Amino acid sequence: MISSLGWQGSGIDVAKKRSTRRSHSLRAGRKNAALTAREDLYSILSSPRGRPKQMLDAAAQQMWRLGTRHRIGIHPDTKHWICRGCKSLMRPGVSATVRIRESVRISTCLNCGRIRRFILAKEGR
Ligand SMILES: [Zn+2]
Repeated sequence: MISSLGWQGSGIDVAKKRSTRRSHSLRAGRKNAALTAREDLYSILSSPRGRPKQMLDAAAQQMWRLGTRHRIGIHPDTKHWICRGCKSLMRPGVSATVRIRESVRISTCLNCGRIRRFILAKEGR
């Protein structure tokens, strides 16, 4: 799993090229539309630089709603960075503080003050 800090650095456009065959059945179409929308939101959230906070928070909220409503979940690369409390985007150093102590990442949302702990996988270094 991904254990590195932050997501603005590397590996963002890896998931871009995915040519799935399209099925045009109605049921699949709806889910696909949701997944496409999720990708769009992800592309906004993964390059937050230069975007207004309002837009980012709105995108984070939409991502949350989309994921829960359609049961597709939040994009795996963003789920740690959307605040569970206020659903805003947690940007380390901008709208959140992140501290790592003994393989536990403690991130605090500066918007609502909610704290999240996440146990990082230990890397044999
Ligand atoms: Zn929050």
